[in-house]
Amino acid sequence: MIAYLLRTENRAKLLTVAVALSLPAAAMMVRRSHAMSHRPAIADRAPLTIIAIDPGHGGRDPGAIGCHGAVEKNVTLPIGLDLARLIDEAPGVRAVLTRQRDDYVGLRQRRIIAERAGAKVFVSIHANAGKPSWRGGTVFAQPVQNPEGKASARLAGLITRQLATIEPVDRQRRADFVVLRSTRIPCVLVETAYITNPIDERHLTNPVFQRKIAAAVFRGIMQFLMSRRAKK
Ligand SMILES: [Zn+2]
Repeated sequence: MIAYLLRTENRAKLLTVAVALSLPAAAMMVRRSHAMSHRPAIADRAPLTIIAIDPGHGGRDPGAIGCHGAVEKNVTLPIGLDLARLIDEAPGVRAVLTRQRDDYVGLRQRRIIAERAGAKVFVSIHANAGKPSWRGGTVFAQPVQNPEGKASARLAGLITRQLATIEPVDRQRRADFVVLRSTRIPCVLVETAYITNPIDERHLTNPVFQRKIAAAVFRGIMQFLMSRRAKK
């Protein structure tokens, strides 16, 4: 009887070891429990979807300057880094950043970084400039004649809706920005708020608001990816 029990116990142990060594199964279990406990499962077993995050300007290109001296390149970077962190923490998706420091990166180079990483979506982060009274966010989609123009507009619409939960937003627009000219993947440019408006400028330099903006853009991207998966 004792011998039998020992054999059974050993078999159970062997089985445990076998399961532990079966890496794909183990990884799948870990990922599934992670997805169930924290976030909606975008990609349970699918390969990782790469999302390019492009913090606007940097280095010798400061971007727009606020009414009290805030510099666009210094607010797009923390928002972009927050957004990339949220993406990296979510199951099934990974971020690639076009810059991680105060570096100058050319517009063409930004697209090349995204394409080389195999990104499926490109999101450029900026702060707007205009009359001192103008406030709020605007999301720009690719021109309609672009092969991904329709998808880009859908992504812009979803991000716009999420931004509207935290700040005034403009109707989404289309623009032929150089950085949006990729023909291979849906691209959008998010003007997070007006750095030239005193209230928006204060918000843009506040880490709490920066994280809120990043979270809103993140939700829009995830909704877009889920709708794409549902269509397939
Ligand atoms: Zn800009």
